[in-house]
Amino acid sequence: MEEQTSLRWWGKLHWQIFIAMGLAIPFGFWTGVPGAEAVGWMGELFLRLLKMVVVPLILFSIISGVCGVGSVSGVGRLGLKTVLYYVLTSSAAIMVGLLLANLIHPGDPSLQVLAGGSQPEVATQAPSLSELLFRMVPENPVEDMVYSGDDPTRGPNILGLIFFAVFFGMGILALPKERRDRARDMFETMFAVMMKITGWVIRLAPLGVFALLADVVGHTGFDAFVALGAYMLTVLAALLIHALVTLPLICLLVARRNPWKYAQALSPALATAFSSASSNAALPLTMESVEKRGGVPSRISSFVLPLGATVNMDGTALYECVAVIFIAQCYGVDLSFSQQLVVMLTALLASIGAAGIPHAGLVMMGIVLTAVGLPLTGIGLILAVDRILDMCRTTVNVFSDSIGAASVARLESPPGG
Ligand code: ASP
Repeated sequence: MEEQTSLRWWGKLHWQIFIAMGLAIPFGFWTGVPGAEAVGWMGELFLRLLKMVVVPLILFSIISGVCGVGSVSGVGRLGLKTVLYYVLTSSAAIMVGLLLANLIHPGDPSLQVLAGGSQPEVATQAPSLSELLFRMVPENPVEDMVYSGDDPTRGPNILGLIFFAVFFGMGILALPKERRDRARDMFETMFAVMMKITGWVIRLAPLGVFALLADVVGHTGFDAFVALGAYMLTVLAALLIHALVTLPLICLLVARRNPWKYAQALSPALATAFSSASSNAALPLTMESVEKRGGVPSRISSFVLPLGATVNMDGTALYECVAVIFIAQCYGVDLSFSQQLVVMLTALLASIGAAGIPHAGLVMMGIVLTAVGLPLTGIGLILAVDRILDMCRTTVNVFSDSIGAASVARLESPPGG
């Protein structure tokens, strides 16, 4: 990217984004709601541009990624490694969350008063296997690109889109050579076009990040932060352990990369994940950062990243776990060992099922609460601070997806292999 070759530090995108974040926080605090509303439209516009590119980007990236793998069995192998990475890292995150929530014990029955007020509508039952399958296999892929069902806040059905794209890519691989090459060329070109457009949108990231962050800071009061301090600290400490110990170790040992340098390359994606609280919205920047700045081959990242943005959510899984244990503590319920196992399992399912959009984790928490017999009103306890925690967990989600892409790339083509 051009900005990489600029000699001046302020010409580099990640510095521009850091400065934007540094300015947004005091701006939001000082100007409050009026200031937030004055700049909010810029953030909204930035998000709309990102959403505009995300569906065709996923479609073309996966088709060209699958074509790039070269064979149907290769796609199966890649898929297996990817899913294994997702499950292992999410489980590791959950265990850290469980450990800290039990050690710190942030919940207290005196906090129950916070549970009043309006409740968001939540999911209460984990989707059954057949439901998941039906959601994955679209009747009409064009409809899935637009709308996922009854809930207008959920946007396109990305899982169905991914399934169709993988199938389509495998269809191309099964064609006779001449046609296969022509189709592959075409989809690689389409993908290149989408990446070009993405690059233009990314130029606006400093402005977008500034506006989104100022908007959140301007609208959020301090009181809730004080009452829920111990809970927030538990989630944040667990997220930090996962992001600063577990994931860097995987980056070092499996991907064989310097985690610090890789994180620097990812900074535009991480900053967008943080300010938008949406893995889907950050996906265009994640792809650009991982491929162009991080040097991960496009045939791998084109497949691993869109799937990761939809199903791999380490930060969300960890958060579900801490939040449910916190709620149990506030209601004076002692969760037994087997109940905590149920929390772990359902938290993993809830994180897989959560869409890559703001507050999806909160909505899915109903599944975990119901599984261990806790009241859904418990969600009211943690509502006030959910946005800020959502920003942090989404950053960890995107960081994990990106390390997953580097790790799978390494496993797919070891040096000298
Ligand atoms: N906002 C998160 C994401 O997009 C999902 C969640 O709410 O935990 O990754």
